[in-house]
Amino acid sequence: MKIAKDTLSFILEVCKSSAPLEFAGMLQADGDVITEVVVVPGTSSSENSAVMQLFMLPNIHTVGTVHSHPSGNRRPSGTDLELFTKKGNYHIIVGAPYNTSSWTCYNKKGETMKLEVVDYDFGDEMDIF
Ligand code: ZN
Repeated sequence: MKIAKDTLSFILEVCKSSAPLEFAGMLQADGDVITEVVVVPGTSSSENSAVMQLFMLPNIHTVGTVHSHPSGNRRPSGTDLELFTKKGNYHIIVGAPYNTSSWTCYNKKGETMKLEVVDYDFGDEMDIF
């Protein structure tokens, strides 16, 4: 699995601007490239409640989740690990200072995974926005 560079930039930017609140979203992919983030409304400063928002989302098609740890400690919590087993197999945790090396991808078992960052052509869609 891979992630589009622009999508990763968006994630880092939105996590940074949400801080000190936690950001949470669902990941969607085009083929084997993660290209979309579905933002979960009403993120909270409490670690557990932002993650709980993800639990409560209807079963949209997703390859995984993303959320931020404003503390900078990117280890998944017990609640995170429980979430990972339920929604997809790619789970990104972003921590302060929100740069290109302050994120980690985990699989549903909570093991670190390599996620390749690639250039992705969003085509005409980008021109509309
Ligand atoms: Zn967490």
